Amino acid sequence: MKLLEGKTALVTGASKGIGRAIALTYADQGANVAFTYLSSVEKGQALEEELTAKGVKAKGFRSDASKYDAAQELIDGVVKEFGGLDILVNNAGITQDNLLMRMTEEMWDRVMEVNLKSCFNTVKASCRTFMKQKGGSIINITSVVGIKGNAGQGNYAASKAGIIGFTKSIALELGSRNIRSNAVAPGFIETEMTDQLDEKTVQGWRDAIPLKRGGQPEDVANACVYLGSDMSTYVSGQVIQVDGGMLT
Ligand code: NAP
Repeated sequence: MKLLEGKTALVTGASKGIGRAIALTYADQGANVAFTYLSSVEKGQALEEELTAKGVKAKGFRSDASKYDAAQELIDGVVKEFGGLDILVNNAGITQDNLLMRMTEEMWDRVMEVNLKSCFNTVKASCRTFMKQKGGSIINITSVVGIKGNAGQGNYAASKAGIIGFTKSIALELGSRNIRSNAVAPGFIETEMTDQLDEKTVQGWRDAIPLKRGGQPEDVANACVYLGSDMSTYVSGQVIQVDGGMLT
């Protein structure tokens, strides 16, 4: 049985890493998938082909998650193309790390805009559609760093903690309309980004995790399948940690 058959999902920031894994896993579970990318244009186009080859409807949109007006245009485009929207996954995110003493105002603002304001932008733009359809599942990708903080990531941690507060508030506001809102908090997930780190450092991180390995993008994608599917129709306002037991 495919868990997302007949549903339409939008995944932001799906050209690589975790977002790409969510889009592909959603398609494997029968969902029609709209997704966004920004700078990785070729990877975005390749993903559209890969998803379509799985026998679902798929379309990539080049859209900057940090821009308010672009979000409305995006949701309008998705609804027009797919006839509705059932699952919204806010995954697009960046890091611009530095210690507070060296962090500039630009680094703070950009991370807040791409990671946190982006969630407001798409949720605001899609809630009318969810209300009309009498249901929807919003999944915001936060981080364990948003729960426990991290030296050198003050901007990122604040944006991810903000996502949790926003997720819970939306669950309270929109629950009576059968709109669910949850967050997924990945721990250390091995992506292209972590491939560039030296093996000794990465092994040290793996050793400190109870399950003794870094997570794979698919581990995060599977939690998103659960939250997007009818297996979780009574689950809202939650933060699901996908961290191998790192933060217990
Ligand atoms: P990644 O490999 O760097 O991918 C980030 C994605 O976001 C890319 O597809 C990128 O698209 C997109 N993106 C960035 N800025 C954007 C913008 N302004 N508008 C639209 N799309 C934008 O990162 P990842 O590791 O997969 O992380 C995905 C999410 O998981 C992020 O929210 C991150 O904070 C969170 N997370 C990751 C980890 C981890 O260990 N990897 C842990 C906890 C949380 P383009 O390349 O096309 O610009």
